[in-house]
Amino acid sequence: MAEFRFYAELADFLPLHWRGRTFVHIVLPRQSVKHVIEALGVPHTELGLVLVNGEVVELSRLLSECDRVAVLPALRHLMPQQPDGDRRFAADAHLGRLARYLRFAGFDTLWDNAWKDADLVAVAADQGRVILTRDRDLLMHKAVRSGCYVRDKDTLAQLTDVAHRYALDFSRPASGRCLECNLPLRGVAKEAVIGRLPPRTGSVFDEFWYCEGCQRVYWRGSHWKRMRRAIASVAQLLPRSNCADPEP
Ligand SMILES: [Zn+2]
Repeated sequence: MAEFRFYAELADFLPLHWRGRTFVHIVLPRQSVKHVIEALGVPHTELGLVLVNGEVVELSRLLSECDRVAVLPALRHLMPQQPDGDRRFAADAHLGRLARYLRFAGFDTLWDNAWKDADLVAVAADQGRVILTRDRDLLMHKAVRSGCYVRDKDTLAQLTDVAHRYALDFSRPASGRCLECNLPLRGVAKEAVIGRLPPRTGSVFDEFWYCEGCQRVYWRGSHWKRMRRAIASVAQLLPRSNCADPEP
């Protein structure tokens, strides 16, 4: 038997009777820290520090009877800014609305409703993306290097959670991405798109943006304003982040 204690939000993955307390669990010969922790229900992507008998260890460390294991969550929002590569995402099929908000705020987020779990894992591994998912079993897949368990069902709560964890800055000038296909938007002259706009839109708005992938045209209409207000409300909840004013 080894002793385990999971701290902070990691306890959410455990049965109620193991939360907020130290408990003992069987450790078989040659089982690694990662193996045992995932068997207890906590994906390796959610782990920050793991201490065994008071010392920080790698997840590959083998456990022994009588070891004392303390597990702390990934507190990435308290760490220095990560390189941008750590803020490129691939979202699972259930997180389409979250993907659209991330794209709106300028963050490169792949999402495809037709993806199976294996497709998502493969794309994220190939391109070095963070997997966003509400499926904890998916995060335990061997090929998953970086991932985030999205806890909430509400889209804006999800966005707040992801922004907090990855230190996303919604106040930085963002070019915005196509909500449908994720490509960066380009500014375009009104004359070039006037024939494709709904009636009166051309007389009300002067600035337009264009997606070279799907040929959609964007402008700051009511839908854009609603999304910007939502992003601003999330930005106000974030540390070190000013009220958002992202470009479309
Ligand atoms: Zn597009």
